Amino acid sequence: MSHLMNTYGRLPVAFSHGEGSWLFDLAGKRYLDALSGIAVSTLGHNHPRLVKAISEQVSQVIHTSNLYGIPLQEALSDKLASLAGMDEVFFCNSGAEANEAAIKLARLYGHGLGIAEPAILVMEQSFHGRTLATLSATGNKKVQVGFEPLVGGFVRVPFDDLATLAATAEGRSDIVAVLVEPVQGEGGIRVAHQAYLQALRALCDERKWLLMFDEVQCGIGRTGDWFGHQSAGVRPDVMSLAKGLGSGVPIGACLAAGRATGTFKPGNHGSTFGGNPLACAAALTTLSVIEDEDLRSNALRVGDLIRARLVAALEGEEGVKDIRGVGLMIGIELDRPCGALVIQALEAGLLINVTADKVIRLLPPLNFSEEDALTLVEGVTALIRGFLAAQ
Ligand SMILES: *Cc1c(COP(=O)(O)O)cnc(C)c1O
Repeated sequence: MSHLMNTYGRLPVAFSHGEGSWLFDLAGKRYLDALSGIAVSTLGHNHPRLVKAISEQVSQVIHTSNLYGIPLQEALSDKLASLAGMDEVFFCNSGAEANEAAIKLARLYGHGLGIAEPAILVMEQSFHGRTLATLSATGNKKVQVGFEPLVGGFVRVPFDDLATLAATAEGRSDIVAVLVEPVQGEGGIRVAHQAYLQALRALCDERKWLLMFDEVQCGIGRTGDWFGHQSAGVRPDVMSLAKGLGSGVPIGACLAAGRATGTFKPGNHGSTFGGNPLACAAALTTLSVIEDEDLRSNALRVGDLIRARLVAALEGEEGVKDIRGVGLMIGIELDRPCGALVIQALEAGLLINVTADKVIRLLPPLNFSEEDALTLVEGVTALIRGFLAAQ
């Protein structure tokens, strides 16, 4: 009997090592990685610059403490603040923790305004993590059931729908923030319209709410911009990051700007591991490699290629309802549940994922090549055709 807690339905495979876009299982079979450990392995596997930077950092010092100065953390906060046009950064170790920081920040901001029970507008189909506050903010009953009582102070509205949001908030004086993913990931790769994000910005300014973007999955170059909201030309007051930031070394971040700046004071929040020298070295190197290898352009170009080829190859397939996404966040929505495709893909040497029951999700590394892309499209289209024909 396994001594692991039974929290995951695991696929019957384990990997010994990786190289670029490929992972190798214990028997030596290779798999094209179109998932990147769920948008984590930004640079693919074993990128030489990342391996070198991490190894060198390990040989210097891994962890000190936030009781002391951490020069690499300062450097990483400078870099992230400049890429995002934001003021301050708090480091933690995961996406859920980054969102916990955002939620706490919003409540503290609300209390500062004299609001005793501040509320945050959150979206349907959203995903913000598995801690009690973040699962309460999440718009998916499956994540919440069994963990009631949920944390209060969240008001749910439909995603990408400003009119309903404004109507819901009408007459309420307890709202202090809006929390939204610019591209919903777990919810099925749903891209918010730019006009929606712009209108949210204007509404938040008018009402003095914090605009909080959860960029845990869509941030760090994946959409072709550093952050998924940047194509809309708006800046949030709070932004959470994690997944792709450390290329597999756990690190999360909560950034603040504008009216959110200066909300946390010493003693309000903290993390033992958050932003330790090893994690910061991994993140700084990830950002440098994205810049030096022009991986944002690659994400855009290869993402467009994958979508265009998928559209061409799957044209006329009645079971395919939509092919969507931006950059290397790609969703193929079928008209029926298709979780079974994941294991069929595995047998065919492809690592893909299905989310929201019916959406095949592709999140390849940002340095995925055109050759990898064509291999992926060929494999995925054959699987989808076979799957639909067999039903
Ligand atoms: C994965 C994810 C999270 C949670 O991140 P963890 O590191 O698993 O805690 C939060 N928000 C979004 C948008 C995510 O995709």
